[in-house]
Amino acid sequence: MSEQTLSTKKVVTRFAPSPTGKFHVGGLRSALYNYLYARKHGGTYILRCEDTDPIRSKKEYEDYFLELFKWLGIEHDAYYRQSERTEIYRSYLNKMIAEGHAYVSKEQPKEEGGRTEVIRFKNPNGVVTFHDDVLGNISFNTAELGDFIIARDFDSPLYHLTVVIDDFEMGVTHIIRGQEHVSNTPRQILIQEAIGAPRPTYAHASIILNNERAKLSKRDPLVRPALEYRDEGYVPEALLNFMALLGWNPGTEQEIFSMPELIQAFSIERMQKQGAVFNPEKLEWINKEYIKKMHPKRQMAMLDEFMPEAIRTLPDYKEKREHLAPILLERIGHFGEIKEMVAQGELAYYFIQPEYEKEKLFWKDERDSAKLIERLVRVSDTLSALPSEVFTREGIKEALWPYAESEGRGQILWPMRYALSGRDKSPDPFQLASLLGKKETLERLAFAIALYHDQHE
Ligand code: GLU
Repeated sequence: MSEQTLSTKKVVTRFAPSPTGKFHVGGLRSALYNYLYARKHGGTYILRCEDTDPIRSKKEYEDYFLELFKWLGIEHDAYYRQSERTEIYRSYLNKMIAEGHAYVSKEQPKEEGGRTEVIRFKNPNGVVTFHDDVLGNISFNTAELGDFIIARDFDSPLYHLTVVIDDFEMGVTHIIRGQEHVSNTPRQILIQEAIGAPRPTYAHASIILNNERAKLSKRDPLVRPALEYRDEGYVPEALLNFMALLGWNPGTEQEIFSMPELIQAFSIERMQKQGAVFNPEKLEWINKEYIKKMHPKRQMAMLDEFMPEAIRTLPDYKEKREHLAPILLERIGHFGEIKEMVAQGELAYYFIQPEYEKEKLFWKDERDSAKLIERLVRVSDTLSALPSEVFTREGIKEALWPYAESEGRGQILWPMRYALSGRDKSPDPFQLASLLGKKETLERLAFAIALYHDQHE
């Protein structure tokens, strides 16, 4: 059936979020699949704001998903707001009533002053069978649905009605959405048949499960507001790449896809029935791959964006960041981790002279301050004599290694490293010194020496 539709009609897909909350990351997948499918077939991708519920719909939530899709680069070809289409729905309601497909029904109000009339669909009570391109044939006995309500009144149509009218009016050929909508499909098909709309191709994407395959908590990564991923420094292309693989597979081992590659590779045939697991570790891995491949300019821009202001505004920030970038980029899975590193005190010492207790400079149980000074001075003199071209990790190591070997590695390298970082854990002293540069390295060694020097005068 899809083959036929394709050969005769231009593909039109749509994504239809309701602006009743901050858009969840899990909801991205349907938007992406509709977008990919339309792009692949040179079709049209519609974004439709389903804001017919006047109480729950909020402009801020509409703005939220618009901002999200802009960040992700999922551009729509047309945009509609259901709240602006009341007249269209009203004319369909009138027509349906005139043709005997719907009727105004007297109701017993549920509460004082409640509604005494609604508009109900005249259900022919048959069995609806439809083909789903992912799930196969599905049959529903619709008699159990009764004459369901399609509008509260002529100006307040409900979801099933508006979806069907819009999909028809907008020429939608393919409906790709989550499996939670399978049970809505028979009602929608009944309405289609009543208004004489052709049946689109359906493809219901698999359920998305969380990592524990358990019930979702509010903080589950799968139901988090999607822009939190932007705010934590995920790469939009990486998030899309990850979402694409939740419920679709390329049939190959390939896991990293650029957007053009995704458009090329995507097909409804390769969407899967069985539940897909939202695995945050996999997202982390994919994101890391994107960070590695990113243009250096963008890497630096993102580092800057996530660097706390106190560090970013230091006079030699740019210069040090240049040296530090490879280490940082190697360590992080998403850029927001930089903030955590700063909060843990893992970064500040690269930029500012660390404060520490001077006893910490001693290796293990040693307490001989004269010896300590002698060693620090020797390290300092050796480095001072080192030409700047060889002030590299290897060059520094080569210059100090024989001394460290003869005196004891811990005895030399621990105080040196502590003087440079002020921390029990940090990169090795050769790397630290090369990152800090000659001038700052010598200053920090002098600072450490001065801590003890006074007591020897
Ligand atoms: N507005 C519906 C929702 O937010 C989607 C309707 C559809 O995709 O058919 O779940």
